[in-house]
Amino acid sequence: MQIVSTVEALRKIIKSKKSEGKSIGFVPTMGFLHEGHLSLIKRAKAENDFVVVSVFVNPTQFGPNEDLSVYPRDLERDTELSEKSGADLIFHPTVEVMYPEGSKTTVNVTDITEKLCGASRPGHFQGVTTVVTKLFNIVSPHRAYFGEKDAQQLAVIQKMVEDLNMDIEVVPCPIVREKDGLAMSSRNVNLTEEDRKAALVLSKSLMAAKEMIEQGEKKVDVIYETVKSVIESENKVEIDYIEIVDGVTLEAIDEIEGKVLIALAAKVGKVRLIDNIIIGGQKCC
Ligand code: AMP
Repeated sequence: MQIVSTVEALRKIIKSKKSEGKSIGFVPTMGFLHEGHLSLIKRAKAENDFVVVSVFVNPTQFGPNEDLSVYPRDLERDTELSEKSGADLIFHPTVEVMYPEGSKTTVNVTDITEKLCGASRPGHFQGVTTVVTKLFNIVSPHRAYFGEKDAQQLAVIQKMVEDLNMDIEVVPCPIVREKDGLAMSSRNVNLTEEDRKAALVLSKSLMAAKEMIEQGEKKVDVIYETVKSVIESENKVEIDYIEIVDGVTLEAIDEIEGKVLIALAAKVGKVRLIDNIIIGGQKCC
């Protein structure tokens, strides 16, 4: 298992793998890996000959009052877990390698980046699309794996790849949850025991919505009220947003039809958590 931190060294390895006819799978992460990340790595390994995992806490996707300084990090553990899951190489660049002094270029996807998380985290998605473009250009993978946990991020990356004619297959992977339903997240480690319990209302509210829809409820405002009231039953949880939108365009809808995304974000203690459920449409993996 190699750990590489420069663009030049990584490019040399990728070039040599490609010259041997090997396919390259790529899993971009911010590290502190959990089973959610590992499911992406395993899938990448099953579908590609050589798997690159990037571990880079990208400062440009954090706002000034966000949790960049307390974002958990543990490269040694990440290396061990990645290797066990089938990764061949970790790309772990410094901030200076990714953003050398004098960098002036950003990548911006309009419209779908302005809703949901984009509304409460201005500049977040520009940070994401810029770093992902750079990573795509450095790794030049055949396939890149993204979790549906970050449903809006996935939609934004898919749009960017389509709009900019990037020759990369984006592979969506389902959310991995703890046994009690909490969506796995590197940030969960920053929850106190009490907050961890309170956070369960997030997945519970989505399950309640799913059940209602399965029983035939089609009205978005009725489903919205249920999700809201389940979350509000826990006073430690502060809702940022609950959105029930078209699963592809992220446009607001009135009725459940086709692929629908129910997405939410909430502050639990000091930690901002997101969760979502995709209903209808084609299941991706
Ligand atoms: P992050 O390290 O949080 O930037 O996440 C890196 C990748 O792992 C992203 O594509 C995420 O959507 C994905 N991911 C994070 N948590 C989960 C999860 N619980 N289930 C599936 N994928 C996940």
